[in-house]
Amino acid sequence: ENVIELRNVSKVYPNGTKGLNDINLRIEKGEFVAIVGLSGAGKSTLLRSINRLHEISEGEIWIDGQSITKAKGAQLRQIRRGIGMIFQSFNLVKRSSVLRNVLAGRVGYHSTLRTILGLFPEKDVDLAFRALDRVNIVEKAYSRADELSGGQQQRVAIARVLAQEANIILADEPVASLDPLTTKQVMDDLKKINQELGITTIVNLHFVDLAREYATRVIGLRAGEVVFDGPVEEATDER
Ligand code: ADP
Ligand code: ADP
Repeated sequence: ENVIELRNVSKVYPNGTKGLNDINLRIEKGEFVAIVGLSGAGKSTLLRSINRLHEISEGEIWIDGQSITKAKGAQLRQIRRGIGMIFQSFNLVKRSSVLRNVLAGRVGYHSTLRTILGLFPEKDVDLAFRALDRVNIVEKAYSRADELSGGQQQRVAIARVLAQEANIILADEPVASLDPLTTKQVMDDLKKINQELGITTIVNLHFVDLAREYATRVIGLRAGEVVFDGPVEEATDER
């Protein structure tokens, strides 16, 4: 069963810039895929297309046999619930506690009012603590998010995706603003949850050496087109 499928996907931005040009890809359940390419190659556009953070101009994207391109309302929300996003800038609510940030992963499961009031059931709090435990940061649960180091904040973002019970993770340059040691910790966490939970993981990376170290498949983009797609052993520095 294939989890993610892109068929003839193109994205043209309103100003006429081509972000993606006729992309065809199949990513199977449990894969750990690195998308590599220079700045402007289309990596971010590709991830944003997959969970429909923006509309594509042509083609269709399928998630677990459902078209996210055509989905509406409740069906779209249900598909999106299964897809967790991780960003370079962490996207945490800085002045909220770590626990509240992780509970944000549960928002899609409840009514808006309930989540505005912060009324999360005990089961959600348990899930949040288990997620924090998995990324070894449970002792920070009651700290304010902006009191944590960059690496710790990114682990909170990973915990949020775990609490969301996503089965796909899209990580857009998750280590671009981190130092080498912290980069390794965050990539190790992503790899660990990919292997232990079978979460399909797509990571945009600026550096091919990181892709080689962690991914099982490398997709190279240049000017919105796939210029390489293969096992990590065959990926070269030529981008
Ligand atoms: P990458 O993530 O590989 O750096 P992007 O996907 O951000 O590349 O960008 C791909 C192309 O689309 C680039 O030419 C970029 O300038 C352009 N682009 C990205 N976002 C926008 C936008 N919101 N409006 C117009 N052009 C954009
Ligand atoms: P890293 O090198 O992993 O980014 P830092 O040196 O930034 O780590 O942080 C080390 C420790 O200091 C961490 O435990 C973190 O929680 C704490 N810390 C970092 N920034 C702040 C801050 N602004 N306020 C309080 N504690 C902080």
